[in-house]
Amino acid sequence: MNRRNFFEKAVPASFAIGAIASSCAPKGQPLYSDKHFHISKGYHQIPKLRLSMDRIVKETVGLRPFRASGPRIESEQMGNKTIVHNYGHGGSGWSLSWGTGNMARNMVLATKEKKIAMLGCGTVGIATARLLQESGCEVTIYTKDVPPNITSNLATGTWSPASRVCDVKVAKPEFKAIWEEATRFSFRRFQNLLGMGEIAAWAEEYGVFDDAPQYIPGAGGEDFELEGLLPERVRLDKKEHPFNANHVTRRANMMFNIPSYLRHHLNDFLMFGGKVKIQEIKKMDDIDALSERVVVNCMGLGAKPVFDDKELTPVSGQLSCLIPQSDVNYKLYTRGANFISRKDGIYLGSNGIVGNWDTTPSREQTEKVFTILNKVMTEMKG
Ligand SMILES: Cc1cc2nc3c(=O)[nH]c(=O)nc-3n(C[C@H](O)[C@H](O)[C@H](O)COP(=O)(O)OP(=O)(O)OC[C@H]3O[C@@H](n4cnc5c(N)ncnc54)[C@H](O)[C@@H]3O)c2cc1C
Repeated sequence: MNRRNFFEKAVPASFAIGAIASSCAPKGQPLYSDKHFHISKGYHQIPKLRLSMDRIVKETVGLRPFRASGPRIESEQMGNKTIVHNYGHGGSGWSLSWGTGNMARNMVLATKEKKIAMLGCGTVGIATARLLQESGCEVTIYTKDVPPNITSNLATGTWSPASRVCDVKVAKPEFKAIWEEATRFSFRRFQNLLGMGEIAAWAEEYGVFDDAPQYIPGAGGEDFELEGLLPERVRLDKKEHPFNANHVTRRANMMFNIPSYLRHHLNDFLMFGGKVKIQEIKKMDDIDALSERVVVNCMGLGAKPVFDDKELTPVSGQLSCLIPQSDVNYKLYTRGANFISRKDGIYLGSNGIVGNWDTTPSREQTEKVFTILNKVMTEMKG
């Protein structure tokens, strides 16, 4: 089977890309595949999710900052200020934060300035600020909001570097190389965050389908893949899994425990002498009034009105949070639904509505995802 076709035609939103773009082990079956790891125990020991509507304690809608041509990572001169843009990461901002942050850092370092203004305190802004500090810069973050009141707090938290990162029909051919460089840098950086209170961790990820997964139009821009980062995804046969499904796959993928990650991230920034000022940037004059000559723009969707970016558009995504379950530490996606188990809860989701600015959660959407996952769990052995 052509592995790229098989997976590329799958899949739900943020899981998809973890699944596709990063399906990156060498082509062909590895010599010592992970496939039979648990074979002596029969099928894999996978605990069932305790699914009931009264265990759903939170519903959120976040707005992915999407640009069809890909994130804006470039430097421009405006009067006496150099503005370095680093925003518009769609559904990949967590995954790419270090990689595009590194590109922005290089643009800043080229100016030789050491006092830097950072606009925005999301995962992209903080990662970029930390990298600048590592290069000897003094960084002040100016931001309207801090965690948890930011988009980055409303993400699933999976390694998904190509999820809604662009529309390949619109992005320039050069973008793929930029994406690859950012993806590789980020991946390496995340390896250094493993084992620190589980802010980043590895988890098993199962794809559970009745029949061969098909591409879901509109899932968005998940057309890149990179070999050699994640372990190979393997197809399990009927005896190796407890699901009532014909196409079941498993692979290890990285995930991020978002609240503790952001706390850790921000604490590190402060520990290295960073300052945070709560200030909304409403217009270019507000940037002009800042004392720093170099300004890094990591405002996500907030960049749209200030820089008149017509391309930047929201892709909303709803997550419904179940009470955490200590024995469930895997991720699962199936047609129309997925879940990820984090320390703060089990997040069910997620959809993607292009151009939707409404952040009101819909009970109907929760029930839809719940019903699909409930069927998977009810039909599961054990
Ligand atoms: C449902 C959902 C699931 C997702 N899942 C994943 C995933 O699994 N993996 C992944 O990699 N990505 C995922 N994403 C995408 C990811 O969350 C975003 O790409 C990322 O959060 C963008 O980060 P950011 O720092 O650019 O923006 P934000 O988190 O929005 O931060 C922007 C910052 O700028 C500030 N700001 C905005 N406007 C102004 C202003 N005018 N003046 C001053 N400050 C301002 C804000 O207050 C904030 O501090 C998901 C997104 C959603 C919605």
